[in-house]
Amino acid sequence: MEFTYSEELEIQKKKAGRKQRVRKRMMIMTATGLAVGLVLGVCLGSMGKKQLKAEVAFLTDSVIEKEKQVLSVRKEMHEMQNRQAIDAGEKELPWNLVLVNPWNEMELGYEPPELVEIEPDMFVDSRIAEPLKQMLAAADAEGLDPFICSAYRSIERQEDLFNQGMKLRLNSGLGYFDAFEKTASVIAVPGTSEHALGLAVDIISVSNTNLDESQEETKEFKWFEEHCYDYGFILRYPNGTTDITGIIYEPWHYRYVGVDIAQEIKALGVTFEEYIQNHYLK
Ligand SMILES: [Zn+2]
Repeated sequence: MEFTYSEELEIQKKKAGRKQRVRKRMMIMTATGLAVGLVLGVCLGSMGKKQLKAEVAFLTDSVIEKEKQVLSVRKEMHEMQNRQAIDAGEKELPWNLVLVNPWNEMELGYEPPELVEIEPDMFVDSRIAEPLKQMLAAADAEGLDPFICSAYRSIERQEDLFNQGMKLRLNSGLGYFDAFEKTASVIAVPGTSEHALGLAVDIISVSNTNLDESQEETKEFKWFEEHCYDYGFILRYPNGTTDITGIIYEPWHYRYVGVDIAQEIKALGVTFEEYIQNHYLK
């Protein structure tokens, strides 16, 4: 294929490698720290069990401190990249093509200019309300039963979701770093979810309300996968593109980009990241 997701992908791959190395180093540090603590405790028999316990607790605390430092360095790296991406975006990307993903956070404080309620408690950016309604009406006319299970989500709501996920994993005994990684793999880090743009909707089948890969078996998914492009939407996270999008396969998440670009993306068979990379960020 003539489109290669070259530089950006390479950077992300390097970052992934770096992350793994940092992780490995931290594991070694943890193991060494605990081993040293134990040996010290055993050698200095007079320390007693209580003191040994305190020693191990201290070492664990210092490992948590290190994890926090690693995270803050990562955050700084992301912020730097985001500033670059946002600079590029401000110059060239129109509202319907704003790129938000794990490596490109939304502009700080961004709010859709106007929200419209399309179903009870479901809001979207007013600019996509009409095409969305038309798409749903067309699906209804085919005798299908689609169901919007998520639309606009404020950054605050995303923060709540993320914090709930973190709590759950910390309580289950994971360290801070692991809890963060695990949570981020299923709930977008606040500021990196397209739902906060008001340009994305999750559409599932009334016959199957599980938010998982089984959606692809429903006739609703089969129809939306084929026709969403006619209404300006794209299936944002297709199967087998996690390396590029940073998000798992989601046979329910549709993002508005406009009819012309949606058609182009469909014809090229590329992800949104690849399209933006090749058309706007070169
Ligand atoms: Zn979604």
